[in-house]
Amino acid sequence: MKRVNLCVLPTPCHKLERVSEDLGIEVWIKRDDLTGFALGGNKGRKLEYLMADALKMGAEVVVTCGSAQSNFIRQLGAACSVLGIKTVAAVMELPYAADYGKPNVKEGSINGGNLTLDQMLGVELHYFPNDDWEVLYEHAEKLALQYEFEGKTVYRIPIGGSSPMGAYSFVQAAQELPKTFRTIVTPSSSGSTHAGLTYAFHGTETRVIGIASDPEVEIIEDVMKLIVGLQELIQPKQILMKDIDLRIDWSYPAYGVPSEKGDEAVLYMARREGIMLDPIYTGKAFAGLLDLAKNGELNGPVLFWHTGGVPALFAYQPTISWG
Ligand SMILES: *Cc1c(COP(=O)(O)O)cnc(C)c1O
Repeated sequence: MKRVNLCVLPTPCHKLERVSEDLGIEVWIKRDDLTGFALGGNKGRKLEYLMADALKMGAEVVVTCGSAQSNFIRQLGAACSVLGIKTVAAVMELPYAADYGKPNVKEGSINGGNLTLDQMLGVELHYFPNDDWEVLYEHAEKLALQYEFEGKTVYRIPIGGSSPMGAYSFVQAAQELPKTFRTIVTPSSSGSTHAGLTYAFHGTETRVIGIASDPEVEIIEDVMKLIVGLQELIQPKQILMKDIDLRIDWSYPAYGVPSEKGDEAVLYMARREGIMLDPIYTGKAFAGLLDLAKNGELNGPVLFWHTGGVPALFAYQPTISWG
């Protein structure tokens, strides 16, 4: 598969000395916060394949969508910028579950953080009020059609870069690990990180657990669809729905809304290891790892996949006082 070189790979992978001591099991971390492109994050890996595909079709404009603090749009904006392609994104102003009510986030969450970087990179942002994701996908499609009407060659990328090609980058990433882990814990949202790792380790002794950032059980179907896509793209493996381990327990109160447990995990990692997590994905996932480890549910050595997201720290108001 064709690939554009964007990231500095392999990313570091090292033991968390103090966390391991605290939990009584060996815990390592995969530093995809240090992918070395546009302030890091897991999306750089997906973009190496997606951008190669966009170049192949001669794309002049790339259209995508996401939340206002999307880490994907930031990394996509940088990738398109260096390749001379225009980035257009439909963004949802304040993502939260419709039935949850107004989330406890500072006004700033729709300014600053990733949005500052998007603007710096020249991303054309179109803001839409909070609604179902399906409605946002329709807005993105309308933008794509508008550019096509103007005669431009448009390349469409689904939310989070989650196509089978995006997931493939994580089948590749799995080969970077320096040793065998019994358990891998990763945040999971649009699903291609989780799908790629699940595919890569299926049939081995390594168990992959995805900790959801969104409290909707249906997202397991997105992960399954991506795995089916991978089976068509590379080679079939007998992977069933029951082989996907996705936990939603740490995703509350809603997608894009920090939680007390998640923020506590961000604080703990910062003060214990000097490593910054983010409140929307990695903080909640690490909170899950801590709880599962304390309940004796994790076999070591454990690997935590740090998927990045640090710029969002500069936009979100924590739900607890950093004290
Ligand atoms: C996008 C993202 C995730 C989720 O990865 P998916 O492949 O979309 O499931 C996790 N963490 C961070 C920081 C992200 O930006």
